[in-house]
Amino acid sequence: MLGHDGRDHAIHRDASVVYEDDRILHVGPGWSGEVDETIELGNSLIVPGLIDLDAVADLDHIILDSWGDPEVRKGHQWSADYFTNHRRDVFTREERRLIRRFAMAQLLLHGVTTAMPIASEVHSSWAETYDDFVDMSEEALELGLRIYLGPSYRAGVHVTREDGTPDVMWSVPNGEQGLEGARRFAEYAVGLPELVQPVFAPCRIETMTADLLAKTADLATEMDLRVRLHCMQSMRELELVNATHGSTPLDLLEKVGLLNERLLVPHGKYFSLASGGRPTDPELRRFADSGAALVHTPITEARLGYTIDSLDRYLDAGVTIALGSDCFPPDLVRGMELSSNLAKIMEGRLDAGSAADLMRVATTGGAKALGRSDLGRLAPGAQADVTVFDFDAVTVGMVEDPIRTLLMHASARDVSMTVVAGRTVMRHGQIPGLDLVGLRREAQSLFDRMKSCYPERDVQHRDVATLFPPTFESLP
Ligand SMILES: [Zn+2]
Repeated sequence: MLGHDGRDHAIHRDASVVYEDDRILHVGPGWSGEVDETIELGNSLIVPGLIDLDAVADLDHIILDSWGDPEVRKGHQWSADYFTNHRRDVFTREERRLIRRFAMAQLLLHGVTTAMPIASEVHSSWAETYDDFVDMSEEALELGLRIYLGPSYRAGVHVTREDGTPDVMWSVPNGEQGLEGARRFAEYAVGLPELVQPVFAPCRIETMTADLLAKTADLATEMDLRVRLHCMQSMRELELVNATHGSTPLDLLEKVGLLNERLLVPHGKYFSLASGGRPTDPELRRFADSGAALVHTPITEARLGYTIDSLDRYLDAGVTIALGSDCFPPDLVRGMELSSNLAKIMEGRLDAGSAADLMRVATTGGAKALGRSDLGRLAPGAQADVTVFDFDAVTVGMVEDPIRTLLMHASARDVSMTVVAGRTVMRHGQIPGLDLVGLRREAQSLFDRMKSCYPERDVQHRDVATLFPPTFESLP
């Protein structure tokens, strides 16, 4: 069991975690008090509930768009014509609700207890809505997932022009409407049970106006809420931000009042054109000193061909780092191992990307990013958010140090139990009250429809087989 001694995680053996309602009473050996129920977990690793601050809560599309050649990839964006004349919602409100139920169930199956969802705007007519998030908060409360929710909003969309060049097209009124929906939802969510917390989730810095960013900062300060903004994600983004605002993302964030401890930044790899993207030591220190947190998403980034340089450099500079899955599957253990290996490659040494650092990133790092000292640790007084890995599973193989074993021999598919706020929300692959097989069948058919709708957005209207060629020829 990974307990916490007030300073850092620490390992107990033959231990128990005792909780009452949503609070932990005791962690470790030596409990002699009364309990209502005892759950024997055998040879298991018990860790604080995993925190995923860039969690897919939608149909993920990275299996479609992370491997194509440049010509095909142009067709994965909206065409300018689609933006102007044809954009529409591919799914109904009920279907979007089902998609989110399925995605949140996946989070619980993979041992995630706290999530901040990431949107997939590809199938919507603009971005997420107030209504969708009312539905989603109801679903989250039913499932028992702890969640930080806010509909995404944007004033611009990445498109492909007729001549094949990339561009961003704007609709400031849509951005204003989106912010208004986000504000309304935040006010609504303040009145919900503690499990659902509001947050502001503007999409990406290069699809926002300075005015929208500044209004977001004002609202977040006024309501004392977090803001998550995809940022410093590509050289193209640096060029766009420079062309529109004449500054780096960091300077823009500071100017609009967002560069502070409320801010969570997924990706954070490319800092300035002047230094070729890779952050200089002063740039990293500036980010760290602002109190903003990085949401590290190693699987998505690797699938898109990059990684931060490097995890150890960012940690040494004092950057608060949380973990995010950002794509399917929401397997934070896979993310931890990948991040560890990427850190070794980037640093050129084996003691980079330590298992201890990755365990902190997935737990206390996320908690710090949220300003929650009661999450991400197993200690008396903390929230009873617990993730259990089955180390009796034969496929785990040899067990050595439990955390290294977790990273190198197991995955989040070895989670046997997920507890959120003292409620067992997943046990042995089952979620109480949910028909996972039926749900999966419905989600598959909606995914198939999402895929079939790419040709209408492609600038050349190429068919599905051209946009997503199979790995191998199909035999008749
Ligand atoms: Zn992302």
